[in-house]
Amino acid sequence: MKLDFLTLYIVILLNSLTVAVIWGAIAYRYRNFAAARVWLAGCVLSTIGGCVLALQGNEGSYVPAVIGNGFVIFGFCMFWVGVRVFYGQSGGLKASATITAGSLVLLLLLFGSLQGRNLVYAAGQSVPLVLAAWYLLRWHRKDLGAMIAATAMIVGILGHLIESVLNVGLMLGRVDQEFYTAVESYALLCVIFSGVVWNFGFTVMSIGRLREELAELAQTDDLTGVPNRRHFLAVLEAEDKRTRRTGRHFSLMLIDIDHFKSFNDTHGHAFGDRILRQFAEIAKAMVRGSDTVFRLGGDEFAILLPETTARQAEKVASVLVATVREGSGKAEDEDRFTISVGIAEWTPDIYVAAVDLTARADEALYRAKEAGRNGYAISGMKNRRPAGQSHLKLVVS
Ligand code: GH3
Ligand code: MG
Repeated sequence: MKLDFLTLYIVILLNSLTVAVIWGAIAYRYRNFAAARVWLAGCVLSTIGGCVLALQGNEGSYVPAVIGNGFVIFGFCMFWVGVRVFYGQSGGLKASATITAGSLVLLLLLFGSLQGRNLVYAAGQSVPLVLAAWYLLRWHRKDLGAMIAATAMIVGILGHLIESVLNVGLMLGRVDQEFYTAVESYALLCVIFSGVVWNFGFTVMSIGRLREELAELAQTDDLTGVPNRRHFLAVLEAEDKRTRRTGRHFSLMLIDIDHFKSFNDTHGHAFGDRILRQFAEIAKAMVRGSDTVFRLGGDEFAILLPETTARQAEKVASVLVATVREGSGKAEDEDRFTISVGIAEWTPDIYVAAVDLTARADEALYRAKEAGRNGYAISGMKNRRPAGQSHLKLVVS
């Protein structure tokens, strides 16, 4: 069965236009999504190029051939650049300009032959597709959308390869015109199919990215930027499982700002917010890279310390209490504040970490508050006020 070349060509153009509308809508709706703008540029440029190329006729006319090919090849390069942008890599524009310019020089050299022009057209589009497919296969094999896009690109490259082999065969007199026309239309079908599917792959990549961003937002406290209670419960559960497997204990610190309500009442809610942000900054700067600071809600925070015993966590708590007291403002500053800390270490008799361990740390926090605040207490250990200290410091007996 022969497929009509003109119909296929119109289908290619309409497909590019459809995909351009989709990327246009996505780029308009999500202004920060730079890759969508680059892919939109790729679709628009290749559609314009395709329209201009249609004007050249079989004899080939210089101006539409050069402009049309230039637009199409640079447009295809934008699909590759968009992939790089999507994964946070800059660059690619200079290479795109070089690929386009190189193709146009070749086009002018081979201009006298229709097959020569077809070869340049196929090669010029294949180079950016090879670059994009290689990049996706090399670095992003775990991303389903990337694999869909890369596979589709390989199909497109195969289509161009068949087209090129046919053209070389025609030039060498090994292929007759009838065979060429029949098979070329199927090669073109591969190219049409691949263009739609790799753009579909890009949209699957984009949906995945938006999902990741939403999941991160859902686990972040928007006032302080640290992970929130939802994230805390997930990490605590994971740490509980890990500890049961490896036997390596971990500790939990619950932290509550002292007399926080009075800051709000005296200086206003915005002032209270500033203190919450300030505490989050101090705590983040103080803990190790493996420890995580969470805001559980209100003026309550938690720090999860993997592979840390209560004794080791005590040292951290002691420094944190002192740092907040000393570092949260000068003595006369109105925003100087203190904290109380409850520490609990995971033990094998903990039933569920999120319930038992939190309850134990909470009980210790309550004791630290009861003992006068501005200090810490450890679950299962007694408090003692050290002699000669003006501020309250709870130590293990
Ligand atoms: P204590 O020393 O016993 O902890 O006394 P406290 O005044 O700190 O008492 P509590 O911890 O119960 O106070 C929590 C206050 O935190 C009550 C609430 O108005 C305030 N709060 C909760 N969320 C926010 C917030 O996002 N911003 C601000 N500014 N205040 C908040
Ligand atoms: Mg409080």
